[in-house]
Amino acid sequence: MNKKFILIFIFLVSCTAQDNTSIQDNISEPQESTTEPQESITEPQESITEPQESMEIKFEIAETIKIESEDVNCTIPGFVPQDYKKNYFELSTELGHNKPKKNAEMCVLFSENIPDDFRVYQNDVMEKLIDYVGGYDRWVHIVYKPDDQGLDAVDALDKFDFFYDNNHEKVKPTLQFVHEQRSCLSGFGRKQERELNHFSMCIQPLPSSDPYWQNDLQRLGPEAFAMAHMNGMAHEYYHHVQRAHVFDRIDDFVPAWYVEGQAIVFPSLFLRDNFDDLQIVKDNKLEGSCIGDPEYDFNTVQGKFIQMAGCNLSQKYRQYRQEVTGETDYAECKGFSNDEEFYDRTLCSAYGWEMINFYIAYITSFETFFIKFHEDYFELGFPETLRKYTGQSLEELYESFNIFILDNPTPPDGFFPEEPLDELVDFWSINSG
Ligand SMILES: [Zn+2]
Repeated sequence: MNKKFILIFIFLVSCTAQDNTSIQDNISEPQESTTEPQESITEPQESITEPQESMEIKFEIAETIKIESEDVNCTIPGFVPQDYKKNYFELSTELGHNKPKKNAEMCVLFSENIPDDFRVYQNDVMEKLIDYVGGYDRWVHIVYKPDDQGLDAVDALDKFDFFYDNNHEKVKPTLQFVHEQRSCLSGFGRKQERELNHFSMCIQPLPSSDPYWQNDLQRLGPEAFAMAHMNGMAHEYYHHVQRAHVFDRIDDFVPAWYVEGQAIVFPSLFLRDNFDDLQIVKDNKLEGSCIGDPEYDFNTVQGKFIQMAGCNLSQKYRQYRQEVTGETDYAECKGFSNDEEFYDRTLCSAYGWEMINFYIAYITSFETFFIKFHEDYFELGFPETLRKYTGQSLEELYESFNIFILDNPTPPDGFFPEEPLDELVDFWSINSG
């Protein structure tokens, strides 16, 4: 989900190696009180009848492990046996993976030389994400320096059955292997099993020392670069929330503009609404910067923060409109079309992807857009869900959005919510599946 990856990452210099406090493995109660494994299967019945549920063999899920240390805050549920459930939908609805929680089963890992301020900023944003949209099980995020050893983090990932090759063979647990697998939410299954044991795994070298991001670091400066990372994490976490509600339909057709655009709308509003309380904002004394739909000035740290937080909503609207009217470099973007459904065919910038999602919320409601769409998605798929709530097909949506953009040089009242999004949307009420 990171092809149109517009959002980025972190900062700061070294820090002393922290002493490795001993890892505490607190074995909690087994999460599942399933029946004993039943070795005896009832006799096959020759006479054809309805399949009988009672014939199913039940398997136990092993105990949950909780690990906490300086570098590790990680809950590791038991591996799910292959025949425990027919499919992920059944598993997820039984275990509640699609339910927001305060104490979800998550795993956050650092290697030993990740700077303290980075950890503070990331943990702070993560806590606020959980308060705002809810914690969802099966989120695993590691930030590391490739030349660290990351012993505690590697040990936790080992307990996650991470160290397997494509032939399902166990390999030696090292941070080097982790580094070779790096990607964010591109698909991970424990022991390479991705049906019942897939997790959202984000493997991230510390961005400020990652050669990949050096141009952005130079361009933004370390402070705004760190802010960009926080936006990027909120974006990826929102993808995790999306996945929690679509179950096995994750691989079905879904327009790129929807899955990415919704995951841009979300952090734009989340960061705007929480801006003044973010530690990274307080440390830079930038409170108030996101109030009142500001515009950014890229010559100031404050301006860069505004842009990286994405709270310059009306400015982004106008920038997209300028694409459509031919006033920017995106000369090929003549309006929204089905080219935007594909990562490799898109002609418009991410502003268009963000604005069409705001548009759907505007013509329905933010509650509909963030809750009802996800509640119906599994049963209906995206095109039918869109039709149910907007009365429009994809093509009709593009047409009405294009007319709307041309008719409105600036966004009309109510296009962007003035209230905090979590006052308009009860994220905790969602009931998908
Ligand atoms: Zn994405």
